[in-house]
Parts: sequence; C-alpha cells; structure tokens
Amino acid sequence: MQQLTVELGERSYPIFIGSGLLEQRELFAPYIAGKQVCIVTDDTVAPLYLDALCRTLDGYQLSRVVLPTGEAYKNWTTLQQIFDTLLASRHDRRTTLIALGGGVIGDMTGFAASCYQRGVDFIQVPTTLLSQVDSSVGGKTGINHPAGKNMLGAFYQPRAVIIDTASLRSLPPREVSAGLAEVIKYGLIRDETFLDWLEANMQELRGLDHDLVTQAIARSCAIKAEVVAADEREGGVRAILNLGHTFGHAIEAQQGYGQWLHGEAVGAGMAMALDMSRRLGWIDAAACDRGIRIIALAGLPVRPPETMTPQDFVRLMAVDKKVLDGQLRLVLLEAIGKAVVTAEFDTETLQATLAQGHP
Ligand code: NAD
Ligand code: MG
Repeated sequence: MQQLTVELGERSYPIFIGSGLLEQRELFAPYIAGKQVCIVTDDTVAPLYLDALCRTLDGYQLSRVVLPTGEAYKNWTTLQQIFDTLLASRHDRRTTLIALGGGVIGDMTGFAASCYQRGVDFIQVPTTLLSQVDSSVGGKTGINHPAGKNMLGAFYQPRAVIIDTASLRSLPPREVSAGLAEVIKYGLIRDETFLDWLEANMQELRGLDHDLVTQAIARSCAIKAEVVAADEREGGVRAILNLGHTFGHAIEAQQGYGQWLHGEAVGAGMAMALDMSRRLGWIDAAACDRGIRIIALAGLPVRPPETMTPQDFVRLMAVDKKVLDGQLRLVLLEAIGKAVVTAEFDTETLQATLAQGHP
C-alpha cells in the first residue's frame, strides 16, 4: 500500500492506494467519528462493491443510498435523495458519508456532506480510474445545472481517500481511457518525465497492468495534492488542473451530459489546447503532435464532435468558471510540462483552434 498526504493544515488528509483496501476496516475506522455511516453509490457500482464495503463496516449503524448511474443524474433532484435518507434514518452531525463510486458519486456525496446539518465528515472511495487520479482528491464537490457543468457546489475536503485498485478490474475499457485523459493531463501541465513514462507504457496501462496503474495513480495523486496544497480554492495555480476542460466542458454541454464521457471531452479539449499553444508559437509543431499522439494512444478523441461549430464553443465557454470580469481565460502550454492560465491570446487564434474540428 502507498500513502500520500494532502497538506492543508488542520484539514490535511491521507490518500491510501493499494489492492483490496475496501476490505480493510482499520483504514476506515480512524476517519469515522460516530456510530452512523451513510454509503452513497450508484446502481452500477452497488451490485459490484456495496456488500463488500458493508461487511467491512459491520457494526456501524449503516444507511445506503443507491442513486441512478450517470452524469445526467448529477443534479438537485438526485442530490435530494441523499438528504431524504439521512433525515429519514435520523443521521446526526457526527455521521460520516462514504462516496463509493466514480466522480459523479464523489462530487454529489461531497456536496451533500458539505450541506447536511452545515457539514459532516465524508470519505472518498473512488472506483473509476478518473476518480482515483482526480476527482476524489482536492475537495471540489458539486452538481450540474442545465446551463453549465459543476455550477453549484462547494470546496469541501474529505477526511480520507481510500483507493482500492482492485475495483478497476470491472471498469469498461472506455472508462479506463477516460481516466487516462486526466493522467496525461498531469504530465502535460507539470511533469514531462511522467509523460515520457506514460507514452512508453500506454498499452500496459490500458490493459490495467497492476503495478504500472498503481504507479500512475500515485504520481497523479501526488501532483494533484501538490497543486491543491499550494492553492486550495483556485485563486491561481490550481486552475492549471483544468487543461483542456474549458473546451471539454463545452463539448459535454453541447452533446448532452453523458454522451461524451468527461475524460473523452478532456482528451479532445487538451488536443485543442495543444493546437492553440502551437498557433500562438508557445510550443513547436513536434511538441504539439507528440502531445496529441499520446492522447490518441490512450484511445481518446483528439478532435471535437463534427456537429459542433465555433459559435457553439463561444456560447458554451462563456459560462466557464475561469471567466473573470467577462474575460475568458484558458489553460495553455508554454512547454510540455509547463501550463499557464492566461487571457493573453488573440481572438483570431482562438477562432482558428475552434474551427479546426469543423469541416
Ligand atoms: P462516473 O461517476 O459517471 O463513473 C463512470 C461510470 O463507471 C459510471 O457508469 C459508473 O457507474 C461506472 N463505474 C464506477 N466504478 C466502476 C467500477 N469499479 N466498475 C465498473 N463500473 C464502474 O464518472 P467518472 O468518470 O468517474 O467521473 C466523472 C465526473 O467526475 C464528472 O461529473 C466530473 O465533473 C467529475 N470530476 C470532478 C473533479 C473534481 O475535482 N471534483 C475532477 C474531475 C472530474
Ligand atoms: Mg476533470
């Protein structure tokens, strides 16, 4: 088992990474303050892992909430089901929520924990590669609004993140690729050596080679933890974690949540960010092509959907959370391994990037 720490003063917490951790009661117990526990999961993960986690937590006063699966349900109506169960089962302020599932479940459970009786503890047990390398770490929680993704939410840190790599065995290949998008992101923004390693090992990673995947998760979590520790509430550097996400969120919103997976949209969005960085003369063509090739190697799209026009992008990107005082800011690359958040680009270059996927 590997252990990392997200250093946030009194809100610091551990990340445990290893196979079979779902069965290790002693990992959970220190982070459960009271007798009550509410496990939140979705109806895809429930039949796979809910019983195992309940057995691990035998003896606690357990409630279970099984939500419908998918991004389309990351909304107020579904969130309400968590509160309904907590109240019906009389959970008090010492209760602990456990998010068992992918990023949708983690984001919703964390948000519920931030609101329920003005804030209760929660533990992340991420079961997708994407949630293990990204969404379970860092304390961003929330839900979607029809007008924009993740528009309602809170910064709220978990007490612990428990990553059971064995849970990846049931993950469909398309979801593995989606998770690899965020892994590649860390290399592009922060660590060229890691990107080299990813390029060399991509086929084994897609095949879920246990040791390599564990290493990829650990390096990804370490980079995320470092960036979050430097800027918990995204006043500055944390925004680099959104490489490809402004374009990607527009793709997700235009296609309807759940059509393109988040990681797929981020893959195409990172390819667009590489393209735009090249057009601005910040990286050369070889670096741009290499970045795009690695994204494609992971089985991800590198172009936006053909049905999406530059006008669609401009309209949908206007609600991005990085827009400040009406000005769009983008995460672009000054070099492979070095990202910046910037509004220093001309509209023509942006338009050229937006138009490249559109025939
Ligand atoms: P997800 O939660 O929808 O999970 C993807 C699919 O995999 C679902 O169908 C789920 O039921 C299924 N699944 C989960 N675990 C499984 C397993 N072990 N075996 C088989 N199937 C399994 O999506 P995701 O890709 O995990 O996360 C995407 C979400 O995360 C988006 O809503 C995105 O906005 C959010 N996100 C949040 C942050 C953050 O910092 N909070 C960061 C990145 C992404
Ligand atoms: Mg993401």
